[in-house]
Parts: sequence; structure tokens; C-alpha cells
Amino acid sequence: MQELLEPEAVMASFAWMRGEVRRIGHRMVDLVAEYLEQLPEGPTFRPVPEEETERFLSSVPPMSGMSVDQLLDEFARDIARYPFGNGHPRFFGWVNSPPAPIAALSEMLAAAMNPSVAGGNHAAVYVERASVNWFKTILGFPPTAMGLLVSGGSMAAVTALAVARHTAANRAGWSVRQRGMQDAPTRLVVYKGTEGHSCHQKAIELLGVGSDNLRIVPSDASLRIIPEELDRVITNDIAAGHTPMAVIASAGTVNTGAIDPLGAIADVCAKHRVWFHVDGAYGAPAILTDEYNAALTEIARADSVAVDPHKWLYVPVEAGLVLVKDAAAMRDCFSLVPPYLRTDGNAYGVQGPPWFSEYGVQQTRGFRALKVWMAVKYFGLDGYRALIEHDLAMARYLADRIRVLPSFEIREPTSLSIVCFRYAPARYEGNEETLTRVNRAIVTALQLGGESFVSHTVIEERFWLRACIVNPLTSESDIDRFIAALAATADQASVSR
Ligand SMILES: *Cc1c(COP(=O)(O)O)cnc(C)c1O
Repeated sequence: MQELLEPEAVMASFAWMRGEVRRIGHRMVDLVAEYLEQLPEGPTFRPVPEEETERFLSSVPPMSGMSVDQLLDEFARDIARYPFGNGHPRFFGWVNSPPAPIAALSEMLAAAMNPSVAGGNHAAVYVERASVNWFKTILGFPPTAMGLLVSGGSMAAVTALAVARHTAANRAGWSVRQRGMQDAPTRLVVYKGTEGHSCHQKAIELLGVGSDNLRIVPSDASLRIIPEELDRVITNDIAAGHTPMAVIASAGTVNTGAIDPLGAIADVCAKHRVWFHVDGAYGAPAILTDEYNAALTEIARADSVAVDPHKWLYVPVEAGLVLVKDAAAMRDCFSLVPPYLRTDGNAYGVQGPPWFSEYGVQQTRGFRALKVWMAVKYFGLDGYRALIEHDLAMARYLADRIRVLPSFEIREPTSLSIVCFRYAPARYEGNEETLTRVNRAIVTALQLGGESFVSHTVIEERFWLRACIVNPLTSESDIDRFIAALAATADQASVSR
């Protein structure tokens, strides 16, 4: 039986009196601790049983409230038991990291304050400004740049490319804010590499540029944009009377971790005066490591950059960050201040410094910054360097193990903390269809087996298993266990077909 709340009790609960917040808070912290402690002991993945999904999907909005204790029991029973597996030391799917406990718990503090960080003169605004400033320092952007926290790399791309579009249109003497993309006097064109993330295509479709105007620039054997090809394609477009709007380069692609030659691409962009956007959603934090610092320092030459603290910086989802070098262009692109929100020009008054809402899409904005700020302060940049170097070392160890695993093939070169590989015994050589079928069966069996989890991808029309290590809790013995599960699964897959 559910313990139901009377309406008077509901009113009282909102006042959060009588030690209830403390008692409930302690129970919640216990649940958090149990969850995090037990995660490595459980399976990497356990699908939600069908009858459970049915219970969720057929439920109706409750008329009366229920007691917090029963609610927390329900969380433990029906929700906490079915995570996607991220956070588990043998979960290597996509780019899903475990949450840093400091950042996970800080979500509760941020929600308790519950400010809108559209703007104003309150601490949350300064926490976000400080966090954004830190990333300018880390990535070599000048203090005059502007930035904000968004939901993730996808919204960071939309935000940055909107400013790029605004700037390109302005130069062509056309106010895209007024006229939109109707009767555009010129065709805007965007460039990305073969391995650029799909969120960029979504962004330019959303911005009305259209995917017909997204040029895919050829890449080299390491899947990096060839700068000479980029130069050639841009030159052709200019000759045809089109207007290059932006070049999108990757500071770590999601498939293989490839880092585009950022400096050479920056040169091409400077030559043609084209906006240079760097997608560092996954890879940018590796700038802190000695191994990748040189490859990533040229991020500083970008007009805009995206970084996802919710990936390699272990901040709970959602936390993306966008930086734009030309703060005035960013404000020009988005600022629309209704009279009731107009600032009084006094940064120290009620309204505070210029509002974040003038620099992006959202008006009401959450206090995302607290978890980012707390994580960076807690680990420090040296701490982050150590955590990321650990992941790089684990990926290297994994790659070394796969290179000597009989009948397996690894996609070279590997980069950052991603390793792509597949089961490719000699008898299947040249038979892509069979290779795809067998490897698809292996990845599904691995995922459902609950021992280890990898995802898959397709690179140059070939099917690969893909492991991305962004977890400081992953150890060599976890990698060994994964290799054992992989070999056993491959044996079975090749017997059963
Ligand atoms: C994850 C990712 C994105 C998209 O970011 P979201 O946070 O998922 O919106 C873009 N580019 C790369 C390289 C990524 O890894």
C-alpha cells in the first residue's frame, strides 16, 4: 500500500520544516553512495525488464502525493537498478564518463538555490563567468572572448555556428536576423571533415544553411582533414560566387579520436577570412597532457570552440561549453532585450554584468556552472591531467592487448583514448558482409552479457567495435577482463554462424 499525503501535509512539505530536509537529504546521500559503491559490482548493462517498462509507460499522473520514503524506495528498486552502465569501470561505450562525486552532489546545492542564470547580480552569474574564464585560459582564448555553458556539444555548435552565420551574412551586407535565409543574396557554405560529428549537420540544417551546402573535405589515412583540399574547395566556392561561412575542425573525432591539423586549417581560414570553429567536445581537455598539448594548442586560433565538461572532465550530464572570440559579434547575434529586462548599465547594481541570455538561445538558464566550478576547483588542472593521462594509458594498454589478440584487427592509428578493432579471421578476408554480421553479433552479445560494454561504429564503410576510455576507475585488470570476454564472445560467434 502506498502511504498517501493529505493536502495539508503537502503544504507543510513545501515549507521543508522539522528536520525533514536533513533526514531526506541524508537518505538521498546514502542512496548516492550505495549506487556509486555498487556500480562496479553489478553488470555493465542490464536492460529494463519488459514488465517494468510497461509499468512506466502505462502509469497515469498521480492525484495524491506519496511519502518521500516510499518514493526513495521506488527509486532504489525501479530506477537505480537499470543504469545505462556509464560509470562502470568496464563500460567503454560512446563517450560516457562517470560523474565526479563532488560534481554529482553539487547538483543538489545548485538546485536548492535554483537561480535563473539568465543574468543578474548574484553569485551564480559570477561562478559561471569564472568557469568560462578558466576555459579561456586553458584553451588560449583572450580574456575579451565570451562564452557560456549550454546543454552539450550540439548546442555549443548551434550557438557558435549561429554567430558564424551572422558574421558571414553581415559581411555580405545582409542582416540574417531581419531577413532570415529568405532571398539570401549569396549561398553560405560550411566545411567539415569526413569524420566531423553529426551535430554540425543538424546545426546547419537548423540554421537554414542546408546540408547541400555542407562540404565534406577529404581526409588523409589518419582521418584528418587535408588542409590543401580544404583550400581548394573554398577557392572553388569563392570563384563560384558563394560565401564560405565556417570551417569545422575536430580536436578529437568521436570515431577514432583523430585531431585535425588545426594550425594548417587556421592558416587556410585566415587566408580566406572564414570563421574557424573547433569541435573539442571530447578531446579538448587533453590539451592538459604533455602528449597532446602540441596538437591542441592551435585551438587558440579558432573563432569559436566547443568543449563538453560532461565528457572528459567528469561533470554530470548536461554540461557543454562554447567560447566565441568575438564577444561583440556573439551579442549582436543573440541580444534581444525586452524593456523589463534591460540593464541599467551598472554592473554592480541589481542587473549585474551583461546577461548570458544576450549571448545565446536560452532565457531562463540553470545553474550548470556550479558543478563545473566545483569539479575544476576540486581536482585542479594537475588533477585533471593525471586523470586524463590515466585514461590515455588504459587505452594504450587496451590497444597493445588487441594488437596481439589472434584473429583481431585494430584500426591504426589510434588517438586519444579511443580504440577501434574487430574480429577478422583470415577466412573472412575481403568479405565485408560477413565481417559486419559477425562483429555486430559480437557487440550485441558483449553488451547483453553484462561483463563489459563497447559500442560500434562504421569507418570508411567498415564495421568496427569501438572502446572509449574516459573513466579513472578503469584498471588494467578491467581491460584484461574485457579482453577475455571479447575473445570468448568471438569464439562463440564464429562457431554459431
Ligand atoms: C559528444 C560529441 C558531440 C556532441 O555533443 P553533445 O554533448 O552530445 O551534444 C560533438 N562532437 C564530438 C566530437 C563529440 O564527442
